[in-house]
Amino acid sequence: MSKTSKKTFYISTPIYYVNDIPHIGHAYTTIIADALARFNRLQGKDVFFLTGTDEHGQKIEKAAAGKGMTPLALANAVVGRIKDLWKALHISNDSFIRTTEPFHEKGVQKIFLRLKDKGDIYKGIYQGWYCVSDENFLADDVPMQPEGFKICPDCGKQAVLVSEECYFFRLSAYQKPLLDFYAQNPQFVRPPGRMNEVVSFVRQGLRDLSITRTTVRWGIPVPDDPKHTIYVWFDALHNYLTGAGYDWDMEKFEKFWPADIHLIGKDILRFHAIFWPAFLMAAGFPLPGTVYGHGWWLKDEAKMSKSKGNVLDPYLILKTFGPDPLRYFLLREIPVGVDGNFSHEGFLHRVNSDLANDLGNLVHRTLTMILGYEKGIVEEGDAEQDGDRAIREAFEALKARVAELFENYALSRALEEIWAYINSVNKYLADNEPWKLAQDEGKKKRLARILYQTAAAIRGVSYLISPVMPESARKIWGLLGEAGDPSAVRYDDFRFEGFKTGTGIQRPSPLFPRVVLKDFLQEEVPPPPSAMRAPQKKEEEMDIITFDEFKRMDLRVGEILKAERVPGTDKLLKLEVNIGTEKRTMVAGVGDVYPPEEMVGKKLVVIVNLKPAVIRGIESQAMLLAAETGGKAIIPFFDRDVAAGAKVK
Ligand SMILES: [Zn+2]
Repeated sequence: MSKTSKKTFYISTPIYYVNDIPHIGHAYTTIIADALARFNRLQGKDVFFLTGTDEHGQKIEKAAAGKGMTPLALANAVVGRIKDLWKALHISNDSFIRTTEPFHEKGVQKIFLRLKDKGDIYKGIYQGWYCVSDENFLADDVPMQPEGFKICPDCGKQAVLVSEECYFFRLSAYQKPLLDFYAQNPQFVRPPGRMNEVVSFVRQGLRDLSITRTTVRWGIPVPDDPKHTIYVWFDALHNYLTGAGYDWDMEKFEKFWPADIHLIGKDILRFHAIFWPAFLMAAGFPLPGTVYGHGWWLKDEAKMSKSKGNVLDPYLILKTFGPDPLRYFLLREIPVGVDGNFSHEGFLHRVNSDLANDLGNLVHRTLTMILGYEKGIVEEGDAEQDGDRAIREAFEALKARVAELFENYALSRALEEIWAYINSVNKYLADNEPWKLAQDEGKKKRLARILYQTAAAIRGVSYLISPVMPESARKIWGLLGEAGDPSAVRYDDFRFEGFKTGTGIQRPSPLFPRVVLKDFLQEEVPPPPSAMRAPQKKEEEMDIITFDEFKRMDLRVGEILKAERVPGTDKLLKLEVNIGTEKRTMVAGVGDVYPPEEMVGKKLVVIVNLKPAVIRGIESQAMLLAAETGGKAIIPFFDRDVAAGAKVK
């Protein structure tokens, strides 16, 4: 059955180990899964999105003992924290499985017996390297030391070779079936590079897998032989079956199994791409469509410490920004398959530029103009001209492209294309200068068309971002006077011109806060060490900057649209400046030389990529250039006409 004709979509995350504290890494996997689940719901599919927790094993047994708790009490506490995090991130999972739930334990035991009856599970002697201090067998791939023993990777102590009775899974019998399966299903492991790793590993030959322990008590007992406990991987992987209803809701199970995609971190690829399909083949279940091993978020390169409050705790971001900026950043910043380096600076940069500037300003400006020029009612106006048609047609092309990219897990590319469209809409507005048309009675219908086209484009954008930023999409939808939720509209049914005329626009409030790093971390960020070491410079020593440094400054021609005095000061003016692509507010200390009425209409040089500063409660988003002489600021104006927004270099 082809993927597109299938009416259901089953996606899973790994089940998270309750010995961990939930952090950005867990959030990342779950956010990817959530965006894919939401996208497939838009496609009209019946989606089953499963996540949950892995609660058995020796580490949990020990951690609980260390805290004087039972393992289940420890698990209960951590599960609460994980569920709270998913709620805070607006994760739309359909179910949450815990491996300590009786239906799961029963299901695993049933499959264990089935494989034992078939001869794929048999009793033998396990010989392995055992860490006495950790009471734990080392993984088979821990390397042998030249002296002929292994070192425990957890505690660094010398391990001892011990033998114990255990049950084995006959993995060796599945080498050929697995290789055949990979060859026939090249999409089974993604991204494609990871398939090569898997195939070469299996080609080297597979050894039977020990799947029980007598040294671990906290786990599912082997049926009819309870001194053996089922080892965590055999237990955990089967959550994908029991969580979908296996053995307790067979109707649901048959509807959704096999899963379309198991989304996992690349570190657990071998378990999912080799052991898991072998277990399923042995038990006679159909195999999942894809195992996708995504990349990791690494820690800031700059050393940040817990005491500074800037470790990779998702709540640091959530409490200031809510879920959408974090969801956007994690999915936009790196492609799903590769690693990225997480930094709060990188996060803020992207949020300020993509969300606050590009999208937030577009929405704010457009709605403000519809309210100001059209009394808040959107009309269609004149017939479409070429530029108007281009905005509509570009949206239809974008919608098709975004669907294709989502189907290929290229979420970052999809967002990139949506943002390219947002910027083309910003340019469309700048080119058409609706603020000038508004001055001309005869151009009202032309103005209406431009505002209709822009509002319809914004509505389209809000629809396309809804799998990634569901809350913002709903807010924008509401501001445009649309009832309900964008996610209620089927992807195929969504049209640019579905935006109705006569719609009443709501007064906008900023969608995304602009935050500077210092405020965000709620304390001073210490200056870099090089600056602290630099000696005080004498006045005659001039700082030399490179041409590249100079090029990083975005200097443009700004046209002053409005000017007023900042109350309670005699020097400060609050200026509204058109920088070509948008309007900015800036505060300048030139009011003692230039009265506000003289400033309106003037064109001058502004730097537009300077970090915003708050002056007298006003956020100054640009700075003008002026010469200082005798304590007064003198502004250089142009002696020929130049367009607002022209680059100064
Ligand atoms: Zn150890």
